[in-house]
Amino acid sequence: MIRPEQKKLFAVIGNPVRHSLSPVMMSACFKALNVPALYAAFYVDELDSDLKLLHKAGFSGLSVTIPYKEMACRLAEQIDAAAQEIRAANTLRRTNLGWEGVNTDWIGALRALSAAVDVSARNALILGAGGAARAVAYGLKRAGANVTISNRCSERGKVLSRQIKSNFIPLNVLAKVVRGFDIVVQCTSVGLEDAGASPIVSDSFFKPEMTVMDLIYSPRWTAFSRAARDAGCTVVSGLDMLLYQGAAQLQWWLERPVFETPAIEAMRQALEEAVNEKSS
Ligand code: NAP
Repeated sequence: MIRPEQKKLFAVIGNPVRHSLSPVMMSACFKALNVPALYAAFYVDELDSDLKLLHKAGFSGLSVTIPYKEMACRLAEQIDAAAQEIRAANTLRRTNLGWEGVNTDWIGALRALSAAVDVSARNALILGAGGAARAVAYGLKRAGANVTISNRCSERGKVLSRQIKSNFIPLNVLAKVVRGFDIVVQCTSVGLEDAGASPIVSDSFFKPEMTVMDLIYSPRWTAFSRAARDAGCTVVSGLDMLLYQGAAQLQWWLERPVFETPAIEAMRQALEEAVNEKSS
């Protein structure tokens, strides 16, 4: 039998995972809360057997990132209603037998947006139909927003919009459709690690009354979020979503408050420093 003796063990697992900001963010929280814990990043290529290995090694909790959120949801012994609906688990907690899973991405997105705008009964446009879009759509629907999905691949977009009972607009006709969107969330991978990538909507799409969030936080400003800022929109950073989904993970693992404590500012500062360092 093997078990950690001095500190609780946590990790983010993914493939790739080298550039994850979770270790700096989570370690800042443990330090601020004075919790004896270690948080690592593991490259994983056989999720099923690697989860068993991490369980055996005594890990208490795992953050799950690309491309394993869907598979983690299937492999978990039990999952919460949100993970079931989103069909993805980004958080695992140790049980006697294995792992239980929840999804905190929707909590992170909703918290980040709600700090800027009251989302209920607002018209929200989600660009993308992948895993992140599903979580954001779930959160916005749950908070009472009227959700429209727009995606490059119509088939995939329609599947999501049918599932969450929302409207669908193919991405290539979005510019021609006149709609008063109050909230726009960029959930595609366009612009990831590429500040120069052209945004998936034209500059004239943005109106000053919109609240806009790009899930991509590295680079800090994407062409999409820059265009929204220049048009006078209220811009919410994807870094806030990362921060709040992480805080929700910690609350669940540690079974103590994190959101309303100074730890959240320590986490934010650690993230800001890490992103600024990456972009300098
Ligand atoms: P995913 O499941 O692979 O989905 C990718 C999405 O991007 C799909 O809708 C895809 O459209 C679209 N897309 C890719 N290339 C495109 C292009 N050239 N033009 C138009 N659409 C394109 O990925 P995901 O897990 O949803 O993640 C999406 C992004 O969110 C990633 O950049 C990830 O880093 C970020 N994210 C951020 C947070 C946060 O906390 N801030 C959390 C989760 C994810 P098709 O269906 O047409 O291929």
